[in-house]
Amino acid sequence: LTVGIPKETFPAERRVAITPQNVALLRKKGFGRVLVEEGAGEQANFSNIMYELAGATIVKQSQIWSDSNIILKVRAPRTDSPNSEVDALQKGTIVISMLQPTQNKALVDAIAAKGATSFAMDMIPRISRAQVFDALSSMANSAGYKAVLEASNHFGRFMTGQTTAAGKIPPSKVLVIGAGVAGLSAITTAKRMGAIVRGFDTRSVAREQVQSLGAEFIEVSMQEDGSGAGGYGKEMSKEFIEAEMKLFMEQAKDVDIIITTAMIPGKPAPRLILKEHVEAMRPGSVIVDLAADSGGNCEVTVPGKATVHEGVTILGYTDFPSRLPTQSSTLYSNNITKFLLSMSKESGKLLIDLEDEVVRGAIVTQQGEILSPAPRAPPP
Ligand code: NAD
Repeated sequence: LTVGIPKETFPAERRVAITPQNVALLRKKGFGRVLVEEGAGEQANFSNIMYELAGATIVKQSQIWSDSNIILKVRAPRTDSPNSEVDALQKGTIVISMLQPTQNKALVDAIAAKGATSFAMDMIPRISRAQVFDALSSMANSAGYKAVLEASNHFGRFMTGQTTAAGKIPPSKVLVIGAGVAGLSAITTAKRMGAIVRGFDTRSVAREQVQSLGAEFIEVSMQEDGSGAGGYGKEMSKEFIEAEMKLFMEQAKDVDIIITTAMIPGKPAPRLILKEHVEAMRPGSVIVDLAADSGGNCEVTVPGKATVHEGVTILGYTDFPSRLPTQSSTLYSNNITKFLLSMSKESGKLLIDLEDEVVRGAIVTQQGEILSPAPRAPPP
């Protein structure tokens, strides 16, 4: 089988689906050819020569789509003219990438119409056995880390406290709202940089996780557990959100940096930081809204942009993992390569076992037939 890796064409995307190291692994596991588009890894610091040394063949874009049996990508194939990748898909080709099939119905229909098979990395069930394929966690980890670095870049003071000949410098104070994968990564990073870190989440299990990282877990004045299906957060009552906002108003007056990561699957991100919270922060403070792509946790966030409101910088970038391209590509490459190898137990061949919960969860189309969403298992 021939595996193809196109260069990502989504604007400003710097990641690549596979590293030279994993090209070598695929070759070793019996994949006959690995085709890499010229310059595919350039922005993530993987050169054509590195891929060639690992056993790949460097080709032009058109050959990737015409000659590959399996295509590995980061972003979903594009459908917009003149950049359409779906138009170039061959009948029977297998595409594995992020797809978000529930939000991208037209894309799923277009892939199906081509008679192609597709898997969504973002639909891989988040069960223990599939952790190694969990690209959502890998990318959230990168995003949380990079959020702190970007915040620090826009903040005019040290993160850590210091006693110097020129005076005593207090540590910065960082509040992280939402302690899922990205939030915990942000907490760890800010702690390591020496800041005073506070965390909050609606899921009661998050308290221990926040505290185990050495951060303070802050409390809301009312009780309501936000644990929803699959370990995710659920939509909270209006009263709880109001109590949260009151808590965040006290915090806004005290902290220097707020990083928001609060999300609920299939719903817009909860609005937790209003204009008045931003205005209560000291000039020079920074907010990073990691939920910007899902509607934003902060009222004044502009998705994709850095803006300033009354002296407070609000970062609404929607490409945090891509801003750490080498690391994010390496993690994603490990996830996608291991997922592919899990379906190819026999050297270089692929077996799509729909009885396998992980495969069934991730498959979107099979030779033109739409299979997503996977039927839910009946409750025990
Ligand atoms: P996510 O990105 O959907 O949400 C981020 C966080 O926002 C969640 O922790 C959620 O509780 C929180 N949140 C929602 N509404 C909020 C509000 N109003 N105020 C404050 N916080 C709010 O979630 P995620 O990071 O992808 O995953 C969340 C959890 O899922 C993980 O911490 C973990 O427990 C579980 N998970 C399990 C596995 C596994 O392999 N078993 C893998 C990944 C995640």
